[in-house]
Amino acid sequence: MKRVIAIANQKGGVGKTTTAVNLAASLAATRRRVLLIDLDPQGNTTMGCGVDKSQLNASACEVLLGEAELAAALLPIEPSNFMLLPANQDLTAAEVRLLSLPIARETKLRQALAGEREKFDVILIDCPPALNMLTVNALVAADSVLIPMQCEYYALEGLSALLNTVEQIRIAANPGLGVEGVLRTMFDPRNNLASEVSNQLIAHFGDTVFRTVIPRNIRLAEAPSFGKPALFHDKESRGALAYLALAGEMIRREESANGVTRLTPVNASGPASPPAEPPAAEPAPPPEPASAPEPAFAKDS
Ligand code: ADP
Ligand code: MG
Repeated sequence: MKRVIAIANQKGGVGKTTTAVNLAASLAATRRRVLLIDLDPQGNTTMGCGVDKSQLNASACEVLLGEAELAAALLPIEPSNFMLLPANQDLTAAEVRLLSLPIARETKLRQALAGEREKFDVILIDCPPALNMLTVNALVAADSVLIPMQCEYYALEGLSALLNTVEQIRIAANPGLGVEGVLRTMFDPRNNLASEVSNQLIAHFGDTVFRTVIPRNIRLAEAPSFGKPALFHDKESRGALAYLALAGEMIRREESANGVTRLTPVNASGPASPPAEPPAAEPAPPPEPASAPEPAFAKDS
C-alpha cells in the first residue's frame, strides 16, 4: 500500500477527523509507515493526537507557504507510532495567502510532499469542512479521496459538489485522482432511516462503499479528550475494532486490485453468500497487527 488519501467531505461533523486519527492508528498497527496531515485550521486532528496546537514550532501553515520543510514540522505520535503534520488556526491565514498567489497555489502541498512520499506507506490528509483552497491542495496532492458520510436525510446533498470538484481536479491537475471509498460513519442499525440511506448509498455507489461500517460509539467520541486514538483508549471498543476492520478492508482491496491472492481458511459450515448489508463491521482484523487487540464484538462499548 503506497498512497496519499485525502479524507474529505465539505459537511462538518461527518467523522472526517475521527476517521483520520483512528485510521492512522489502525494502519500503523499493521506496521505501515503512516503520515497524518492535519489540514483543518480547527486543529482537531492535532488535539486528537494529544498535541497542544497552541505550542507548535512549525505546522501545516509554514509548510504550505514554503517557510518550513515538511520533515522539520513532523511530530512523532506515540504509542500509536505514526507521524503527524500538525495544524492550528494559522492555517486560515495560510489559505488567504495562498489565494493571493498568482500561480501554483493549488500545488503547494503536492510540492511539499514530493521529497517525503517514499518515506511513508500511507499519507492521510484530514480536510477542513469546505471545498476551499486547503481541500483543493489536498485533492491535488492525493491519489484518492475517502468520503466519510453519516447516513442521515441530507447525506447525499453536497456529495455531487464534492464529486464535481474531484472531477475538475482530475481534469485540470491530477489525472490519477480516484475515489478510495465512501465510508458510513456513526451508524446506528436501529435507526430505519440510517438503513434506508445506507441502501441508497450502495445503490448509487456500489462497491465504492466500504463494507466496513463505523458504528456510533462513545469511545470514539471520548478518545480525543484523552489525546488518543480509540485503539489506545479502549482497544476492545466497537469503534476501535471498526477502524481496524476498515484498515484491513483497505489493505485487502488493494491486494486484490494488485492481483495478490491470499489463502483463506476453509470453513465447511460457513455461509456461501456474503453477509447482508450493512454489516456492523468487518470482523476480520487487518493482517500483521503489531499488537492484535482481542475481538470483542459482543461488548457494547
Ligand atoms: P468532522 O471532522 O467531519 O467535522 P468529527 O470526526 O470531528 O467530524 O466528528 C464530529 C463529532 O462526532 C465529534 O464530536 C466526534 O467525536 C463525534 N463522532 C465521530 N464519529 C463518531 C462515532 N463513530 N461514534 C460517536 N461519535 C462520533
Ligand atoms: Mg474535522
